[in-house]
Parts: sequence; C-alpha cells; structure tokens
Amino acid sequence: MPAHAITVLMIEDNPIHARLIQNLLDASDLTYDLLTADSLAKGIERLDQGKIDVVLLDLVLPDSAEIATLESVRAAAPDIPIIVLTSLDDVSLAAKAVEAGAQDYLIKTDVNSMLLARSIHYAIERFRALSGEWDAPMFRLAQQQFLKAAQIMGLDDNIRERLLFPQRTHVVTLPFRRDEYNLVETVFGYRVQHLLTMGPTKGGIRYHEDVNLGETSALAMWMTWKCALMNLPFGGAKGGVRIDPTELSRRELQRLTRRYTSEIINIIGPDKDIPAPDMGTDEQVMAWIMDTYSQQAGYTVPGVVTGKPVVLGGSLGRKEATGRGLVYLIEAAAKHIGLSLNEASAVVQGFGNVGSNTVRFLEEDGVKVVAVSDVTTGIYNANGLSLQSLIDYIAENRFLKGYPEGDEVSNEELLELPCDILAPAALQNQITGENADRVTCKMLAEGANGPTTLEADEILNNKGVFILPDVLGNAGGVTVSYFEWVQDTQNYMWSLKEINNRLHEILLDAFERTVARSVGDNIDMRTAALIEGINRVTQAKLLRGVFP
Ligand code: NAD
Repeated sequence: MPAHAITVLMIEDNPIHARLIQNLLDASDLTYDLLTADSLAKGIERLDQGKIDVVLLDLVLPDSAEIATLESVRAAAPDIPIIVLTSLDDVSLAAKAVEAGAQDYLIKTDVNSMLLARSIHYAIERFRALSGEWDAPMFRLAQQQFLKAAQIMGLDDNIRERLLFPQRTHVVTLPFRRDEYNLVETVFGYRVQHLLTMGPTKGGIRYHEDVNLGETSALAMWMTWKCALMNLPFGGAKGGVRIDPTELSRRELQRLTRRYTSEIINIIGPDKDIPAPDMGTDEQVMAWIMDTYSQQAGYTVPGVVTGKPVVLGGSLGRKEATGRGLVYLIEAAAKHIGLSLNEASAVVQGFGNVGSNTVRFLEEDGVKVVAVSDVTTGIYNANGLSLQSLIDYIAENRFLKGYPEGDEVSNEELLELPCDILAPAALQNQITGENADRVTCKMLAEGANGPTTLEADEILNNKGVFILPDVLGNAGGVTVSYFEWVQDTQNYMWSLKEINNRLHEILLDAFERTVARSVGDNIDMRTAALIEGINRVTQAKLLRGVFP
C-alpha cells in the first residue's frame, strides 16, 4: 500500500453507513484523510475544490439515484477514480457502473476493511494506467464481462484483482520505410501477455488503425478464457500494430512486419509466446515473422508462430479452422434449439478469413446464406448468395462493393436482416443496446471477438436468442493453432481428417460443458463459458501459489 496519505471523498447520506465505512478504513493499513458529503450537490461542490485521490460513492442519495449519480460525479471529476459502494447487489447495475467508468463496484454488506483498502489502492493504480492508453471500450467490455462472471461465481478476491489486468504489456514505436525511399513512418506496436500461469502465451497479431493498448489487452484477456475453456496449455496474449494495412504495398507490409518482429523478439518464442494471424494479418505475415525470428536464432524455428503456410510447418486445416469450428458449433447449437440447418438462413458480417470460411461450411450444411459484408458494403439476396461467385468477385475487385448478384445494404442494416443465424465475423462492438432490439435471429454465432456489448447481451438473452459467445464460437482457430504448435514441436504432421476430428471433439466437449453450466446455474451462455475458463485458471493459480 502507498505510504503517503490518500484523500478519500465519501459521498454517503446514511450516517450509520458512513460511520461503518470510516471504521473499516480506520481498521485498514491505509493512510488516509477522509472528507465526507451527504448529498450529490455537496459532493460535487467538494470535488470542485480539488485534491481528491479517490471517491467512494453511494448510488442512492437524497438528490440523485443509481447510475445518474455516478454519471454526475464522473462528469464533475473525470480525472478521479470512483469506487461505487452501494447496498444494491445488482449484476446489471454493476455492469452499467463499470461501463460508466467506475473503477470498482462494492456491496456494503460484503465489504471488509482489507477488501476496501485494496479496492482503493487498485482503483488509484488502475486509473493511472487507464489515463494512458488503456481506456478502450473493448477493454471495458472484457473487464465488465469478467467482473460479472467473477461476481456470479464468487471468485476469490486475490485472483479477481490479479486477472483484471494483463501480466505483461510491451508497447513499442517502430519505424518502417515506405516505398518512396526517403519516407519513414513511425507507428505504435503492442504485445500483451495476459496470463503466464498456464504455459506459453498464445494469441493473434492484428493490423488495424484502431489498435491500442486497451484493445490489445481485451483481446489477450479473452484469449486466456478461450484457451482455458478449450483446456489448451496456453495463457492469453495478443499483439498488434496501429496501421491500416490495406493502404500498404506488399513490400511495405513486409518491412513493417519484420521490424515489428524485431521489436518484440525477446518476448516471443515457441516456449514463451506464440503469435498467430488476426484481423489484417495472414499466412504470409506469419511466414515473415517466422523468418525474421529464425534469422536471429540462426536456425529455422517453425514453432514461433502458428497459422503459417503448410510448406513452412503450418498445419493442414489451420487457415479455415475458425470458420470450420464456428460451423461445428452452429451444428451442435442447432440440434440443441431444434433448428433444421437445411431449412435455415444465415447472415455473415465480414468476408475475410473467418467470414468467408463460415459461409463455406454453412453452405456445405445446406444453410441459405442471404447476406454477407465487408468494410465497403453489405450484399443481400433473399434467395441466397453463391460463395464461389463472391470469391471470384473479390479475387478480381478486392472488395464486395459493386457485386451484382444482390442488393447493397449497409453493415448496420445487415445486422437487422431477417435470418435464423447471424454470424458477426468482422469487428467488435457491432450489436449494442442501440440495435439489439432489432436483431431478429434465433442464433447469434460470434466469429469476431467482442461483437456484442453487455447491454445487448441482456436484450438478446431476454428475447431468447441462443448465443455462441466469441470465446467458444471462434475457438477453432486457436485449437488448430495448438495442433500446429504440437506438430512443430514433434516434427510430425497430422492428416486433415485427424485434425478435424480432434477439433470437433474439443469444441463439442467445450460446448456441452458450457450448455450444462448455463442450464444448471441458470446463467447466460457467455457467462457460463467465461466461468468455465476462469475456474480452470483459478485452479492453476491456486496450485502454483505466489512466488516467493
Ligand atoms: P480478416 O482481416 O481476414 O477479415 C476481416 C473482414 O472484416 C474483412 O472482410 C473486412 O473487410 C471486414 N471489415 C473490416 N472492417 C469492417 C467494418 N467496419 N464493417 C464490416 N466489415 C468490416 O480478419 P479475420 O481473421 O477474418 O478476423 C475477423 C474477426 O474474427 C476478428 O474479430 C478476429 O479477432 C476474429 N478471429 C479471427 C481468428 C482467425 O483465425 N483469423 C480467430 C479467432 C477470432
């Protein structure tokens, strides 16, 4: 705990509660000065005078109630961490509070002096980091989901605090030369390792103009739960470069990739951290990373990345594994909800690796795919689209814009089209509190990471939509990446049949465990999947203990 005195402003109208909270603070090892206010107006007045380190906020005050209280305090003091300390044991209010910027949500009856002191300490520490690069909506979503699962499962507070932030983050700026020789660009790159407890870390590398530390950390955290849910011996990681790769020539992409690899070379390796493709990267990018790493090592190291070309030690079936895995799960979910696939229709957002392969395997199952999209447009045809024709068009025109065999729709309209299966396979934050009411599918099959906000989750769950959450839905990719790593380690190649059978077995096992938990504990599928993953990580952490 910090040695210097912390100035705490407690906004609390109930004098008995105020006294109890002060007693808890007195009994803690915190050195603090306490200021109090018994209404929102007085609290804001005190905040205006400055020099407050943290706010303890009751949500129900004489002049304000619930989330509006938090919003008013946050608006008055955006630079001060707020801990909600309330009597309202309400999971959805807690989620809203985190969304609105609260650093923690504590329930008065559950709090003790140590927990309160730690919460204050961590809130201040986290807020310092957040005011840097961390504050991305995606990171807040990942934290909200984790905190919801933690609250429902009653997670050990030591573990909860440890997992809320990644274990290692590596932020770099790196130069690369444009084709115009005198022009050197400097861009930001990241590699985040969320959890080193389970074995090496594993996760993709994203090239996109929105990449930042918070987004990369969210993706790394989700990788932890995904690997744990699949029982893979990895912790979660993710990397990325903040750049639009579609604007780069192939030579520029290669130079950027090699320099980024050099910048992260000390923290990756087959026994340390194994990257793979994600949005904006592909087999070729993995080949360049593998080559750059191998040049430094002095010998060929295929196991440093997965998702590389088969001729370089890649695995059969890896390229299409995420889409194939998603469709294996859609088949299982369809059986579970009594949906006949050869009479079903589907809409797929995104037509890159995950989206196009999802369309491919859905088509093989007899599903009518009525709409697809990419960054340029959506295409809708109520009679069904032909995968081959879409692929031929993209091969020639790079993007879907102008595709003739359907009507153009926007990406927002696409999500609201009538269909049985909706598969977001592009970006995060697509289905939100704003549009979830208008989403009409029976099943939401998440290929993308983080496509659905917590608010939208609640709306869809209430509407009875069956959700295959991202940590389950798109886990086919990392599962075959695991197979690739095993094959590289053993110098032994498996057949495609072997790979697909093993993939099917692992995904189905995770699906059945998630459904059983969801039904047994009467919780939504996402929270059930997260709890499965968090439980495994918790067991491992408790068994390993804390060093020293
Ligand atoms: P990709 O780069 O191959 O394809 C992305 C697709 O999304 C492209 O068609 C692009 O045009 C489209 N897109 C981009 N911006 C869009 C926008 N604003 N609206 C609509 N479409 C847009 O990427 P990918 O590897 O297929 O990854 C897609 C998603 O799946 C990401 O969320 C990624 O994290 C997730 N994922 C990928 C893998 C994998 O193995 N590649 C594994 C697990 C999860």
